[in-house]
Amino acid sequence: MALSMLLVAPFFRSLLRAPRSALMSMLLVALGFPFPLRIPHSALAQGPSSLTVGRVTAVYWPGDERAARALAEMADRSGPWPAVPQASSRPIRLILADKTARFDSLTGGRVPPWSEAVAFPGANTVIVRLQGDPGRALRHELAHLALHAAVPSVPRWFDEGYAAWASGEWNRLDVLRVNWELARGKPPTLDQLNRDLEGGAGRAEAAYALAATAVQMLARIGGERGLEPIITALGRTPDMDAALRQTHRATLEQFEELWHQDLKRRYGWLSFLSSITMVWGLLAAALVVVWFWRRRRDRARREALDEGWEWPSDEAPPSA
Ligand SMILES: [Zn+2]
Repeated sequence: MALSMLLVAPFFRSLLRAPRSALMSMLLVALGFPFPLRIPHSALAQGPSSLTVGRVTAVYWPGDERAARALAEMADRSGPWPAVPQASSRPIRLILADKTARFDSLTGGRVPPWSEAVAFPGANTVIVRLQGDPGRALRHELAHLALHAAVPSVPRWFDEGYAAWASGEWNRLDVLRVNWELARGKPPTLDQLNRDLEGGAGRAEAAYALAATAVQMLARIGGERGLEPIITALGRTPDMDAALRQTHRATLEQFEELWHQDLKRRYGWLSFLSSITMVWGLLAAALVVVWFWRRRRDRARREALDEGWEWPSDEAPPSA
């Protein structure tokens, strides 16, 4: 998973504090960064190269040219993205970190350990770790760039929910994650979701899936126009409450309540299943208790008969 807007400032601050490296600074300035970047010396030991495919320039380290070309081609072909203007001609910079130490160095070590990529919408730049599935991570970050070309600022849950949904990450596993979250108790508020998205890998995975459901619901509310009305409104104001009032005549609080109801209706089957399982479990336990009680009573009756006297019958005497 990846982070985006909130990491921009720490990332650039860390770069500015790091020792100067003329080579990388010149390369990135030549690629179009708006100001000189100072890359940590450790990230430059082997010297990066670059290649350009269409509007995408990829920076890579020795041995990764093939991966760089494939990812640059993918980024150049990306889009269209839901409810945002068609891909702009603005250049995209792609930096491919071949190892964890390089990724941490480039991002100032400020991203969570589970992060696979980071987007910097201001500089239209993505840094991807060449591990796991970099193509999937890149698609997610490209969705962030596309969204931020249309809106200056959005709540974190909308940012991540849009990227997860628009990049096609939403899958059956996410359905299970959301079900599991609901089975654990009340769904989180949108504010809680913002906090969970920055939490540990376990909480963040469920938070990404839940954020995607909130964005999907907004798309359903938008009808045929999908997310277009809310994204247009967010282009005018970063205030989600104001944007919702303008487009769907609902407050953020009302939307949150509708989203919770929708979650329970669509993804509450595991909770339902677990409640049914619990009922059957309790019934089975009750039957076992009754069976043991009957067994003990029958044994006592047999022992009484063996001693030569009759055990009082359970049955009522016949009435006259
Ligand atoms: Zn993201």
